[in-house]
Amino acid sequence: MLRIYGVGGYEEVGRNMSCIEIDDEAIILDMGLYMDRFVALQEKVSKFDTKMLVAEDAIPNDKILSHIKKKIKAIVISHAHLDHMGAIKWLATSYNCPIITTPYTAEVIKRNASNRIIKVNVNSVYKISKNIEIEFINTTHSVPQSTIIHIKTNYGSIIYALDYKNDNHPVIGRKTNIRRLKEIEDVVLLIADSTNADEEKKTFSESIAKEMLKDIMLGMETGEHAIFLTTFSSHIARLKSMLNIAKTLGRKAVFIGKSLADYIEPAEKLRIINFSKDAEIIDNPRKAQRKLSDMNRNREEYVFIVTGGLGERNAVLTRLANDELSLKILPQDFIIFSCEVIPTPVIQANRKILEQKLHRKKARLFKDIHVSGHASREELRDLIEILSPRHILPAHGDIAKCASTAMLANEMGYELGKNIHIIQNGQSFKLFPK
Ligand SMILES: [Zn+2]
Repeated sequence: MLRIYGVGGYEEVGRNMSCIEIDDEAIILDMGLYMDRFVALQEKVSKFDTKMLVAEDAIPNDKILSHIKKKIKAIVISHAHLDHMGAIKWLATSYNCPIITTPYTAEVIKRNASNRIIKVNVNSVYKISKNIEIEFINTTHSVPQSTIIHIKTNYGSIIYALDYKNDNHPVIGRKTNIRRLKEIEDVVLLIADSTNADEEKKTFSESIAKEMLKDIMLGMETGEHAIFLTTFSSHIARLKSMLNIAKTLGRKAVFIGKSLADYIEPAEKLRIINFSKDAEIIDNPRKAQRKLSDMNRNREEYVFIVTGGLGERNAVLTRLANDELSLKILPQDFIIFSCEVIPTPVIQANRKILEQKLHRKKARLFKDIHVSGHASREELRDLIEILSPRHILPAHGDIAKCASTAMLANEMGYELGKNIHIIQNGQSFKLFPK
């Protein structure tokens, strides 16, 4: 018997969690947070419990798995983004099984997980049981060691390819392992990334984002002004580009903010990068006020890379905009948002408020200096072509986004209700026996 459960991430971009039941065993794929609902909740209360987070739709509702809980052999995590692993802290302990993931992701999640963690290298195989084997296939995305998960069963192969992109010129790590994907035969199901399935293009390489940043930082009159940069804290490749451009400009990079430190530290530990050699890392700016005050006096010597690109209340950019730190934003300082605004109401509102504060300070704003980490429609077409799966399950989006993947699949000869499966959170479907 082969049954697929959509636990979360089938009605939103966030809180991804799926489950595959294979005869008398099952595995969970990802356990993520829905950032918009989580941020909204953070603004209301300071302490959360699992029940409250489920009720507020901030984490997946795993009630649908209660009857197979004892069958679950592993929680397999694809990569270190919060929408794929941020719910571990609240949900994983109720499963009596290990978490299996790559070394970088393991380093990031270890503080929040009490389950045993098994580390498996990228492009390696791990046998969960006699009948289930998983393989982490390297893919380019926007955090180190992102993977496409290959689950090998007696019913054929299942490919879980959320948060995948085919970057031909990655800034960190290797290209997506297309050669390996081409070798896999008998793909019974592809669980496909629908985030950008409605964008009729190929997502540009991370090296394009680097050129965009260069164009601003090296091509404009920065003079005596401070340069503030912000991006997703987990985007180590983007941070590396920022650091290198700062060096070319003859300025020292300073990373400020706890979440930046939280993602940089494991990357340095695993020797993926060595930022400490060239840059300063300040994890708690409130405890470094004197240092920040010195930097403020010599602001033209630095590039400040800070948290808070989405206007998060406690992040550094918000604190700077509120004059809470001894580092100041002055007229004509450069504020470069190297991120997109996640299109959810709370995040959009927070970001708008931040922008208004920065405008009042007469700063120069540069927005959307970013490329996505998710494949667009034409890369998805290539992936479907390469794998030729028997069934397709669109995921990582609301019903409209999943429908875009379904329309592409339909164009390629698949049929709704036959081998294209659109499901909502809390639904499941059986592939074998029919
Ligand atoms: Zn991701």
